Amino acid sequence: MSSADEALSPVVSHVDAIVVGAGFMGVYTLYRFLKQGKSVRLFEKGSGVGGTWFWNSYPGARCDVESMEYSYQFDDALQQEWEWTERYASQPEIRRYIEHVVDRFDLAGNMQFDTAVTSVIFDDETGHWIIETDNGDRVSATYCVLATGCLSQPIMPNIEGLESFSGRMEHTGLWPDEDIDFTGLRVGIIGTGSSGAQCLPEISKTAAQVKVFQRTPAYCVPSQNRPLDPDVQAYMKQNYKKIRDKAWTTRAGIRYGLTDRMALEMPPEERERYFEASWQRGGIGFTATFFDLFDSLEANETACVFVRKKIHEIVDDPVTAEKLCPHDVIGCRRLVVVNDYYESFNRPNVELIDVSEKPIERIAPGGVVVGDETHELDIIVLATGFDAITGALTRIDIRGRNGVVLKERMLSDPKALMGMMFSDFPNLFTANGPGAVAALSNMVPMIEFSVDWMMDCIAYLERDGKKTIEPKHDAEDAWAKHVDDMATASLYVSCSSYYLGDNVPGKPRKFLLFQGVPEYVEMCTALANEGYKAFNVE
Ligand code: FAD
Ligand code: NAP
Repeated sequence: MSSADEALSPVVSHVDAIVVGAGFMGVYTLYRFLKQGKSVRLFEKGSGVGGTWFWNSYPGARCDVESMEYSYQFDDALQQEWEWTERYASQPEIRRYIEHVVDRFDLAGNMQFDTAVTSVIFDDETGHWIIETDNGDRVSATYCVLATGCLSQPIMPNIEGLESFSGRMEHTGLWPDEDIDFTGLRVGIIGTGSSGAQCLPEISKTAAQVKVFQRTPAYCVPSQNRPLDPDVQAYMKQNYKKIRDKAWTTRAGIRYGLTDRMALEMPPEERERYFEASWQRGGIGFTATFFDLFDSLEANETACVFVRKKIHEIVDDPVTAEKLCPHDVIGCRRLVVVNDYYESFNRPNVELIDVSEKPIERIAPGGVVVGDETHELDIIVLATGFDAITGALTRIDIRGRNGVVLKERMLSDPKALMGMMFSDFPNLFTANGPGAVAALSNMVPMIEFSVDWMMDCIAYLERDGKKTIEPKHDAEDAWAKHVDDMATASLYVSCSSYYLGDNVPGKPRKFLLFQGVPEYVEMCTALANEGYKAFNVE
């Protein structure tokens, strides 16, 4: 057997590390392990790399953080050579970027696709993890990294008769790898979060009719996407370090976010000018226009009023405009960043169906039933979101010391030190688990930070000739309490969102995200610098 064949062999007896998932995190983790000379296998249930950017290939999918920032920074040559074509890259371009990284660092030989990990069981005797897949692989590993994603488990809506629909039905998060031709079709979009809002402008260009079923309106701000000016790109590349360094100091880890301006300390006309400037600049930095938008309901409402006014200015029909206006806290759910969303409702082929008071009753063979009316459709796009943060973890049978079941913990009292490590689960790592900043940030840099932290942790362990490391219970509890305390004092708990698990029946209602990139980084770094005292090391 050649060494290449051996590397691809479906059955491996023991490796240093197993990585599950081939998104931004899995790819970088694999790169780091290989660089350290570790034997490593990566399993991915999809048939290619990209994670989010492999699965979410729906029309209009693109990032909501500018590409120059929503990209790796671990290798300056990579940063310098890759040319983004748009300010916000589209899904195909991001997928090509991740594929380029895999080729450039020669990672493909260690990856196995179309392989779902089904169980990850700690062997108390050997101190190793036993990983099993749906392809019959059974592998033992010293370390296991769950790079399984925090928005990777799509959920179907809880609507009767879903399977009875006689037309085509696709979930945005499981979009088929093909171009669907919407020309002349009657399309229904269920869901108006980021995915639904990104779909609409694209699909409505060719569809005969689009009905948007909206239960809760979202705050949408324009991305002001455009081709990336080569001079701007060159400037940013020359100043990359400075730009990245600045981003690390802001709450969400993006460079537009550093301000000490207070909305409530400014005359209304001046405040309006700042909001207008942010709107024209475009993007998620809108909620960073003023420092107090996340601290005070009154300040927050000034931004809400501005967006509602914009909706009424853009949308011709005042009744539709009013229905599109959210009345909860802006930023309480991730801001939707998309061009032409509100404008799409001025198209004659687009109709808003408000299902806030009268919910979708059922799906019938011919379409969507609301009250007495059946909306006849050829295709239904389910933009209904994800079982976020813990969803991918609970789909795997993960058992730690003495058979402790991770799923039970995630479904009753979800917590993880730094959102990365679980007590009773030695040498098991993730990122963006409960207690990480995750969706409150620009996630690629946060993924790099977490993976670097893990690698330092493993190096520490091995330098001292130790075998296992896991958080102490009290340290994990203290982290969870800190996350909880921040949540209770914040505006996030005032609306319903996937951040709180509200979108999944039976999920405990708990705000699972750490607020603030700089403090997160500081606290994680301190845990290492103080000699891993918060961990049991054996
Ligand atoms: P993912 O990319 O989710 O990859 C996880 C991988 O693990 C998947 O490929 C999955 O198939 C695999 N996997 C899971 N379970 C198993 C298993 N049991 N066995 C084998 N494989 C498994 N964040 C931002 O900061 N900015 C953005 O602009 C942005 N846009 C987004 C757009 C969409 C449509 C979505 C859904 C999310 C977006 N996010 C964005 C969040 C995004 O998920 C992260 O930015 C990032 O891509 C996550 O990378 P990851 O590697 O951690 O996880
Ligand atoms: P989401 O924000 O959770 O939105 C799901 C939508 O489906 C909501 O509008 C929800 O309404 C609706 N819905 C669910 N069940 C329904 C039902 N039975 N009837 C009517 N409506 C129903 O999911 P998402 O849009 O996929 O976005 C998830 C996250 O992924 C985003 O917040 C973001 O972090 C990321 N993302 C980013 C981008 C980007 O711009 N780069 C694009 C897509 C996704 P309710 O609110 O009433 O529950």
